[in-house]
Amino acid sequence: MEVNFPTDTDGFLSQECPSCEQQFKVIFGQGSEEPISYCPYCGYNGEDCWYTQPQLEHIQSVVFSTVLAPELKKLDRQVKGMSKGFLKIDMKSNLPTPSVVPIDTDDLFEIFHFPCCGETVKAARGDNLFCIICGTEINMTASDSKKSLPEPQRRR
Ligand SMILES: [Zn+2]
Ligand SMILES: [Zn+2]
Repeated sequence: MEVNFPTDTDGFLSQECPSCEQQFKVIFGQGSEEPISYCPYCGYNGEDCWYTQPQLEHIQSVVFSTVLAPELKKLDRQVKGMSKGFLKIDMKSNLPTPSVVPIDTDDLFEIFHFPCCGETVKAARGDNLFCIICGTEINMTASDSKKSLPEPQRRR
């Protein structure tokens, strides 16, 4: 099962570190093929733990309404069939529909590039950032890793 999230206008999707709870943004399907493994801010190491709270809630609601809800309904029917009228068992029948997918909004994050893995991220600050793939700490102010966006110019 796959849950897709719309990205911001630059194609970035918000991610959140479970350790320092700061957000950063990545482009999926570009740069490294490896999964995100490190937080760019604190260097926290982990996999599949980078969803933001709204994304997690949406995933849960999609899983519930597409996987669990039909099972519950089936169970409901079975229970009713077994009870044969002398047992009244009512299960909650107004099951929730999936929540609205969270839309990624544009922000004032800056774009940084990790030359080691060819990854590009958006981050709120960038003195020292850890590569989200290999965890190498890179001093963004010393290198020319900081990239500005090509047209359209987005500086405010
Ligand atoms: Zn972190
Ligand atoms: Zn790297």
